Amino acid sequence: MYDQYETVIGLEVHVQLATQSKAFCRDDAGFGSDPNTHVSPVSLGYPGTLPRLNRQQVALAVRLGLALGCAINRRNAFDRKNYFYPDLPKGYQITQDRQPICIGGTLAIEVGGETKIVRIHHIHMEEDAGKLVHDTDARHSLVDLNRAGVPLLEIVTEPDLRSPEEVDVFMTAMRQLVRYLDVSDGNMEQGSMRCDCNVSVRRLGATKLGERCEIKNLNSMRYARRAIEFERRRQIDLLESGGRVSQQTLQFDPVNGTTSPLRDKEDAHDYRYFPEPDLLPVELVETFLTATRSAMPPLPWELKARFMSEGFGLSEYDAQLLTEDKNTAFFYSELCDYTPNKKSAANLVINKLLPWCTETGLEIAAFPVSPMALAAFIQLIDEGKVSAAIAYQRLLPALIARPELPAADLAQELQLIQTTDDSFLETLADEVLAAFPDKVADYRKGKKGLMGFFMGEMMRRSKGQAEPKTATALLERKLGG
Ligand code: ADP
Ligand code: MG
Repeated sequence: MYDQYETVIGLEVHVQLATQSKAFCRDDAGFGSDPNTHVSPVSLGYPGTLPRLNRQQVALAVRLGLALGCAINRRNAFDRKNYFYPDLPKGYQITQDRQPICIGGTLAIEVGGETKIVRIHHIHMEEDAGKLVHDTDARHSLVDLNRAGVPLLEIVTEPDLRSPEEVDVFMTAMRQLVRYLDVSDGNMEQGSMRCDCNVSVRRLGATKLGERCEIKNLNSMRYARRAIEFERRRQIDLLESGGRVSQQTLQFDPVNGTTSPLRDKEDAHDYRYFPEPDLLPVELVETFLTATRSAMPPLPWELKARFMSEGFGLSEYDAQLLTEDKNTAFFYSELCDYTPNKKSAANLVINKLLPWCTETGLEIAAFPVSPMALAAFIQLIDEGKVSAAIAYQRLLPALIARPELPAADLAQELQLIQTTDDSFLETLADEVLAAFPDKVADYRKGKKGLMGFFMGEMMRRSKGQAEPKTATALLERKLGG
């Protein structure tokens, strides 16, 4: 019966902005300090204090909006959302209700080999609340207000997603984008990115949306997938047994894998929104927009398309691998500034550098050999000076150990340079042919496959230094064609 229903999901994604200071005061916005050390009268909500807008927060909001193709609201404004909670000392949150900074826009995702366009409803700026700590003290809940007032963007999607998998892919793409843009570190485990999932179900073919529930504050993709999966079954069971879904706000319990009601869904009017009287509306002037636009770094899908274009000629698979992480994409891009062999460069990054990152736990930027030196390494192979196999097995590890040396010098020192020296190869070829007269006879009778055997002998006797093309040509000539 579950397959008789379609699941419909809309997300409210919260992204913590990578600003130095908080949204409306100078407190440090960084994560991980001792509780209540990043606070001031403003973030503690003392009466009589005044908020002051963080300019960088606006720039980052515009940057994300431009990347997603949103219309930028040149005049946007803040509102107060009133509610009581122990981690919200002011008794209200400053947010944007009627005039958010970005309207519309889309994000394309790849699911099951197909491209799907997910529509963005709007993006607004707001401040975060503090954090309640329940597990430190046996008898009390504690309040940490370091996070109070940290700037967030809330990205609200249209109800365009249809499965837990699509949610996962969407969130992963959004995280990739905010990281490319330096809008946020996107770390879900530290709470820099979390989402509320609105879930409803409807019979296949139905056009009207079902009644929805909102699962609050999912801060891992695994939880989000499990929560949605549980919730869609719960709603279908309810409908099938003749019940109705009532609009609720839910929480997910990762231990039991279940959702449970947190509160009945509040309506917007419960919050008594009103224009924030202490902040002027934000007027974005043309010069600010132009400056933000021209400071845009390359976007992940732009780089992917570039790597698949004629000049690079990578497969979609390789282009995808190289652009998942911005640092990898930038490193590869820089490497390609120095080498014409984009394919070899891609193989080097994918097969050697990425595994190195996994092994060492370091970023690709920390790879000891510079892009320029790696380009020289690739050139040694392309010019036939070092065989590809030897280069990867022996030269690269040596280069990692002594990155200050040019690849060519190191290859020389380790005697890895292949020789195209005719007299040396000629002597070697004569030796090989003299040692195997039977095989020479067989070859001349037509067993051309023996060339591999002769080459193997050439390689063995030259300790891998015979340049294969020259050596093969030489053997062919000596064997009479
Ligand atoms: P509110 O502001 O009351 O939370 P919105 O209409 O702004 O409600 O919608 C919030 C989120 O819920 C959006 O992401 C939207 O796509 C999603 N949503 C709205 N209706 C449905 C539905 N029937 N099923 C699933 N998601 C929905
Ligand atoms: Mg909502």
